[in-house]
Amino acid sequence: MSMKPTTIAMLSIHSSPIGELGTRDTGGMSVYVRELAREMGSMGHQVDIFTHAWRDDASTVVVLAPRVRLVLLGISHSGPHSKAGLYAHADNHAAAIERFRRHQARTYDLIHSHYWLSGHVGRLLKKRWQRPHAITFHTLGAAKAETGVGAVEPTLRLAVEKELVLACDGLLAPCEGEKTNLMHYYGADAAKIAMVPGGVDLKRFRPMQKGPARRRLGLVSHGRLLLSIGRLTPQKGQDRIIEALPRIETENRPHLMVVGGNGDGDPERRRLQNIAAAAGVQEWVTFCGSVAHRDLPVYYAAADVFVQASHYESFGLVGLEALACGRPVVSTPVGLMAVLSRSQRPGIVVADGSPAELAAGILTAAARTADWPAPVIRQTATAFRWSDAASAALTAYRAAMQAEAAS
Ligand code: UDP
Repeated sequence: MSMKPTTIAMLSIHSSPIGELGTRDTGGMSVYVRELAREMGSMGHQVDIFTHAWRDDASTVVVLAPRVRLVLLGISHSGPHSKAGLYAHADNHAAAIERFRRHQARTYDLIHSHYWLSGHVGRLLKKRWQRPHAITFHTLGAAKAETGVGAVEPTLRLAVEKELVLACDGLLAPCEGEKTNLMHYYGADAAKIAMVPGGVDLKRFRPMQKGPARRRLGLVSHGRLLLSIGRLTPQKGQDRIIEALPRIETENRPHLMVVGGNGDGDPERRRLQNIAAAAGVQEWVTFCGSVAHRDLPVYYAAADVFVQASHYESFGLVGLEALACGRPVVSTPVGLMAVLSRSQRPGIVVADGSPAELAAGILTAAARTADWPAPVIRQTATAFRWSDAASAALTAYRAAMQAEAAS
């Protein structure tokens, strides 16, 4: 459904949509913000995305696409370069955005915040501008805390998320699991929640032949290849994949490529390397570091099976990219993979992600690759275009505008 041109202030404060993907705080949210904005721009809407620039000179503007601008907020800041540090600067962010708006003589029809830190700035702007406020959390502190894995979630985050859920005008959830989480943990009103899934660039992520892909990556001597892509964090469960390897006898054991992370000095990479060494499989694992999004299709193509062992995902773009590239996915029941029906899901969903279960899933998927031709696998992903995601987000904006007008 078309919508009259809308001017959107999109807040992506802690993570830049043009940051290096796969590093600590830059992943799916950056792709989501960039692609959604680009699609909205192509539909005639104006989108200004605001992000923290980690420098204290004046704000600068980068044109990302027709009608889409990225505003790098240069604010003077002291204190730690951390999420907590950013929270303390919410007033400064809101003031810098207001200065930019005035300088540009712009009025925004709606604020769309991404992640709780942006949500906190968004609520200040909502108050100042009297405009509707929609939020995509990307992950929820309470759901993350429930897994008991990784750093302890600050109680501040949980408290702010709860306040935001209740005070905002619309919530965008990427899949059913996250809608349930919003209601269960924070008492969200179901009527406020719109389903806005992630997407995949079907032109970029498409099936390619395995042989040439392996040659390009210098992997011709490897037998079976297993691929994991994601930020290196305990929540992603890469340790469980590594621990699955010794459970597969050597003649069937795949080589694991781990893409993502901050490079050689990354403490999580060192932790994973130690786990591989302790399990006696270090020569079966290659850490590739982060790889540019545009270079990833060749990695997916080189793999026999894609594996995702996350403890929690609100959506999980990598699984969708693997499907678009025609590769089967072995996954824990998280995000999109948990909601795809069996017939839509070429691959295996393992119940608990234990190394033993993952090993069995990997072996089954590897043995069944002949049942899953790449074009059939790709078919699943074609239902998730960024243009559809943008249309769904615009519908959610309309609902948020109506809710705000009625309040
Ligand atoms: N990604 C990338 N290079 C890397 C690692 C990840 O381009 O080295 C991209 C990946 O292709 C996907 C996104 O970052 O598009 C990660 O999104 P996902 O939803 O899987 O995880 P999140 O980062 O949101 O937890």
